[in-house]
Amino acid sequence: MIIETVIGGSFFTNCYIVADEESREGILIDPGAQVAEVLELIERLDLKVERIINTHCHIDHLCGVQEAKDALGAEFYLHELELPVLQDIPNAAGRFPEFEGTEVPEVEHFLAEGDEVKVGPYTARVVHTPGHTWGHICLIFDGHVFDGDTMFAGSVGRVDLTGGSSMEELVRSIKTKLLTLPDSWSVYSGHGPVTTIGVEKRSNPFLTGGLIIL
Ligand SMILES: [Zn+2]
Ligand SMILES: [Zn+2]
Repeated sequence: MIIETVIGGSFFTNCYIVADEESREGILIDPGAQVAEVLELIERLDLKVERIINTHCHIDHLCGVQEAKDALGAEFYLHELELPVLQDIPNAAGRFPEFEGTEVPEVEHFLAEGDEVKVGPYTARVVHTPGHTWGHICLIFDGHVFDGDTMFAGSVGRVDLTGGSSMEELVRSIKTKLLTLPDSWSVYSGHGPVTTIGVEKRSNPFLTGGLIIL
């Protein structure tokens, strides 16, 4: 499996390309401010990317979707409950000069809990992990988890941004949908370095109960 990470913008947001080394078929996850670099990489690696899947629609993960759709002729996949966050994009773009002029891309397909996403011989399961946003999803391949802004190395997503619900719901999503996976599986988050399920289970202060909020 090919996994490429490209970091973009002032939020240091991770965009991922996941592809099959044989057929060169791939998917693009969360293209943001780094989209030009991502498109160049797709061309250099000679990949066929016809699907863009967003974990959620915060502008730092989304501002490159329209450009990627146009350049690749790709279709856009999202959880239906994320539509209000997508529709808030013009507001979000107005708040950050960096994202001015971001277009709201059209959604071709909705993904829901239990759906499968195939990339050559690899299959990801879609899980719905509300908390950071209403329609947040994670893509779970065997051994490789793309979890957007649900859980980070040593931290978890904020719940006070557009689409956020509550820390209780976020932690419930993480504990029931992510921490139940094998400890050795890698977690590729929307920001920061790669971690593993086991490391977060043992040491993430938001999940072990070790964090005292004053
Ligand atoms: Zn986010
Ligand atoms: Zn983010």
